[in-house]
Amino acid sequence: MRNLILAVLLSVASAGCAERAEMGPTDTVGISTNFSAEETEQILAASDEWKLATNGAISLDMRIGLEAVQHSIVAARYLGGLSGKTLKPTDGRANVTIQLLGGLPSAVLKQVTMHELGHALGLDHAEEGIMRERFNDDQPCLTEEDARKMCDVIGCPNGWRGTCEE
Ligand SMILES: [Zn+2]
Repeated sequence: MRNLILAVLLSVASAGCAERAEMGPTDTVGISTNFSAEETEQILAASDEWKLATNGAISLDMRIGLEAVQHSIVAARYLGGLSGKTLKPTDGRANVTIQLLGGLPSAVLKQVTMHELGHALGLDHAEEGIMRERFNDDQPCLTEEDARKMCDVIGCPNGWRGTCEE
């Protein structure tokens, strides 16, 4: 019985973290104003990390506030045990919403945001790297493999690189 309950919980957790969404690499993304200044800084840092790893192929226009934006990053109070969640658009390419749990430690928030941006831009879960399904607080950067997988999806005219060695 105990194992059964655990299995159900795991399947809910993996279903909650949606696989692919439809954000373009230069789209406009609004950050809701109910994040703290420090949280907003980590979200921007996560976006910068993808920009660096793809040598500028990902260059999201990150704005504070949700006015006139294509996609949104919003603070959530409770995500059923998840740290972040990417909501897929229902009809083709439309607004992607990334929900991030409020009150996460800075380093965790940055990593969760990098992971969710990965989903939003088209990556699925992987065994290694930032797209691991189970979150580990030990990768504040993107590996070369993370960058390569992303560039397989979006195309990177200037190549890619890992950001962990810097
Ligand atoms: Zn995920």
